[in-house]
Amino acid sequence: MNKEIISSTKLNEDTEIEESLRPKSIDSFIGQTKLKENLKIAIESAKIRKDILDHILFFGPPGLGKTTLSYIISNELGVKIYSTSGPVLEKPGDLAGILTKLEEGDVLFIDEIHRINRIVEEYLYPAMEDFVIDIMLDSGPSARSIKIKIKPFTLVGATTRSGLLTSPLRSRFGMTYRLDFYNDEDLKNILKRSSKILGIESVDEGLEEIAKRSRGTPRIANRLLKRVRDFALVKGKGIVDKDTVLKAMNMMDVDSLGLDDLSVSILKTIIEKYDGGPVGISTLSISIGESSETIEEVYEPFLIMKGLIKRTPKGRVATRIAFDHLGYEFKGGLFDL
Ligand code: ADP
Repeated sequence: MNKEIISSTKLNEDTEIEESLRPKSIDSFIGQTKLKENLKIAIESAKIRKDILDHILFFGPPGLGKTTLSYIISNELGVKIYSTSGPVLEKPGDLAGILTKLEEGDVLFIDEIHRINRIVEEYLYPAMEDFVIDIMLDSGPSARSIKIKIKPFTLVGATTRSGLLTSPLRSRFGMTYRLDFYNDEDLKNILKRSSKILGIESVDEGLEEIAKRSRGTPRIANRLLKRVRDFALVKGKGIVDKDTVLKAMNMMDVDSLGLDDLSVSILKTIIEKYDGGPVGISTLSISIGESSETIEEVYEPFLIMKGLIKRTPKGRVATRIAFDHLGYEFKGGLFDL
């Protein structure tokens, strides 16, 4: 089978480190308390019943721990995990290749499951529901299909927004969990854990400053930690303390909310070109040169959570908080938010 279908990671420094930072057990997974409690109960119950865990759907912005949780589930259940992603599964045969490999109770993780194509998706339904798949024999006029049974398994799907899934697919998941942005305290604890693993000397106040600029996202927190570590080694005493963090952030142009270039560009475009809005998502997407899908899934959730923009029926509007944050004079008016 094509190796890429069962994903293997690109080997660069960041992905390797990301792997090493993934918590392996549910108890070492920080934050998302309610989700964790529910998941623990579901896993324990499946173990007691000696039954297969129901299919699970995780949704939430990138970098919040969906992949990590899938690996934790397989660890906690003591089963193997196979990992792939929606866009990689081009034809039913790709999926069949993986499904027939699964042992009883194994976890199949499909990242970006909303990007699976319709034909493969329909092929997935009987696999999820009855653990059977149709295999095509021959092609052309003599083509026929036979049903074969596969071993019962748990599908874990991840998507950035559950609304992107078709309803037949969504309804086949027994559990659906939303991951929320992390608060600064949780992020600080994640950073503490990461510092320990990476052997970085750090001070709480330093980690707090990184946490504040991590946009509620562990992946961003860990990435910033590594950059500050580099800065501390080269320009400081090798310790991640408050002063070093502030200097490093300044040098990297990371502002007090941790907004990256594209988030700033979204806000500035709404403010400068469209007088604060409202502006439709497709117009915004053309002005910025980024797909509306990426804007909606990756950048907007945090901007909305921080109250920097609002979605209105007429389009996106920059709020007073956004004007203030970027140093523009807020003129108020129709959308005095
Ligand atoms: P997603 O699949 O949602 O994009 P990942 O599971 O790949 O996110 O998580 C990104 C990184 O963030 C991982 O390397 C992991 O180490 C870290 N991470 C995510 N959530 C947590 C958490 N709750 N506790 C500790 N580290 C976390």
